[in-house]
Amino acid sequence: MAQRDYYEVLGLNKNATDDEIKKAYKKLAKKYHPDLNPDDKNAEAKMKELNAAYDVLGDKEKRAQYDQFGHAGVGAGAGGGRPGGGFGGFDMGDIFGRASGGGFGFEDIFEDLFGGRSRARTKPQGPEKGADLRYDLQVSFEEAAFGKKMNIKVPRLENCEECGGSGAAKGTSPETCPDCKGTGTRQTTTRMPFGVVSATRPCERCHGKGTIIKNPCNHCHGNGKVRIEREIEVNVPQGVDNGTRLRIANGGQSGERGGPAGDLYIYINIKPHPIFTRDGTTVHCEVPISFVQAALGAKVEAPTIDGKIEVTIPEGTQSGTVFKIRGKGIPRFRGEGRGDELVKVKVLTPKNLSARQKKLLQDFESGGNDVENNPEKKSFLDKLKGLFTD
Ligand SMILES: [Zn+2]
Ligand SMILES: [Zn+2]
Repeated sequence: MAQRDYYEVLGLNKNATDDEIKKAYKKLAKKYHPDLNPDDKNAEAKMKELNAAYDVLGDKEKRAQYDQFGHAGVGAGAGGGRPGGGFGGFDMGDIFGRASGGGFGFEDIFEDLFGGRSRARTKPQGPEKGADLRYDLQVSFEEAAFGKKMNIKVPRLENCEECGGSGAAKGTSPETCPDCKGTGTRQTTTRMPFGVVSATRPCERCHGKGTIIKNPCNHCHGNGKVRIEREIEVNVPQGVDNGTRLRIANGGQSGERGGPAGDLYIYINIKPHPIFTRDGTTVHCEVPISFVQAALGAKVEAPTIDGKIEVTIPEGTQSGTVFKIRGKGIPRFRGEGRGDELVKVKVLTPKNLSARQKKLLQDFESGGNDVENNPEKKSFLDKLKGLFTD
């Protein structure tokens, strides 16, 4: 079955802003929402199509995928193999800190539309995508710069193999809920001054599932899902920065009723480095030099993320002077080339001088010309003079 273009569904063109997408969705959702069109199959189909379109276009990442690859880029068959294999120990961190379930704000929108009056939606009958997972991955400064393949262990909910995800013990199957006759919802009607308002709410007996389990599966205790820790290979690309989000298609929780698994989102978190900091692709580093090196000039070693490099410090260099080392910064994320490294020299004032050293410095001071030796000091003194004479 051919799928309609998502922009067409929303009546927009490809250049639509996020705001226009949201507005178009709200407008059409008002028109086709099942609560307002009870028993209208056509409206129901329209609403489904609308939800599918908004699910993608309402999410930056998915929208970009869709723009590039069309339906294939966002469907169950999207690129990126299903991760598999292996188990092991793992410190959980806050992987489940934000199991977003997509987070596209359908609930918010409906709350907004109907003021929470009849938000209960009909039970989803078809396959449903699993929830997304978040994994905060700590990488070293160098790993972020050059990229690295690493294996992570992600605990996630998967369909129980014992019962095939049904939750019912072997040889039995879930039964249709007698209260809601399998619809998962109960209808309530309320007489209001302006007419009858009918609303649906999830069935209390089956919690909206439409089925009940008399003999739960021993393995999953009737949940149909078990928590399994999967080892997943993550290819951290070069140039990732703090907060960079990598998506592993179908790496999330398993879907419902044969639906695809949700996605796994890897959030990059770079460990602080003892000598480097970075700003985008620029690496910053501070190198201490002696005041003699600063005064006479010197060749000093500066660290880069590729190893040490020699930097020529010219005669008369002031503390805080920055030297640029081209192409020794961070490789560009999903791009070509590299940034620069900026080396800032810090001139050290010597401590713990011997008597002889002190004598040499005193001779130096009295033998020189303060104004000529320190031109910056002269201009400072001139400014100071201007400040206090009026
Ligand atoms: Zn029920
Ligand atoms: Zn089971």
